[in-house]
Amino acid sequence: IEALNARLWPSFDQPKEDIAPADIKAFTDLPISKKTLEGLKANNFTKPTDIQRESLMFGLKGHDILGAAKTGSGKTLAFLIPILETLFKQRFTPSFGMAALVISPTRELAYQSFDVLKKIGKLHELSFGLVTGGMSLKEEAKKMNSTNVVICTPGRLLQHFEQTPNFTADELKILVLDEADKILHMGFANTMNAIIEALPRQRQTLLFSATQTKSVKDLARLSLKKPIYVSVHEKA
Ligand code: ADP
Ligand code: MG
Repeated sequence: IEALNARLWPSFDQPKEDIAPADIKAFTDLPISKKTLEGLKANNFTKPTDIQRESLMFGLKGHDILGAAKTGSGKTLAFLIPILETLFKQRFTPSFGMAALVISPTRELAYQSFDVLKKIGKLHELSFGLVTGGMSLKEEAKKMNSTNVVICTPGRLLQHFEQTPNFTADELKILVLDEADKILHMGFANTMNAIIEALPRQRQTLLFSATQTKSVKDLARLSLKKPIYVSVHEKA
């Protein structure tokens, strides 16, 4: 039976049993593809941080997440790993176009996430792109047709929805709202509402924030479905 199992389930996506957060000592304890594990290892990410340990299993299983943890706690990998795994499992390739969207408050933060994604996602046959207004709308639009993971700022993304002919997010599987408190603090509440209106309802959404303000809760209500709440507090 084991031999048969091994044949039906190639080792790269063999599902591991559910694992409790306290038992996750290393990324290798999680049901993550070899490609991602190698990408993590090559960048010296071996042990998950608290927010990663508490949230990754839910993210990998496709749940919506409302995650709160302070700046510097490691929220980036808590959403980038589920993105890579979801697209890998669904065998996405660049020609399929946009399947994951990360919305960041600023160009700088978008670039930081993009940089980490390029590093840990290096072994995947997936394409990653930044949409923050660094080039003309037309050039960006052309590239987006072959970009699987788009990391963007809210204003620029909405501009594409409004001005780029044939731009859709029909194939979107996973949406990430990163640093949601900051996005809202910068005055993007209406922009976010308009973007969420334009996205397919059937999707996974991960919302991460350093603080839980009323406006974050409003955005969560609008964008998440039966979310798992993950909140990590400072230890001392
Ligand atoms: P946040 O988004 O919560 O502010 P980041 O995702 O930017 O935090 O991570 C903060 C810092 O911690 C970064 O320098 C990152 O490289 C590092 N880091 C994140 N996760 C890990 C990990 N599992 N092991 C080691 N360093 C990590
Ligand atoms: Mg962050």
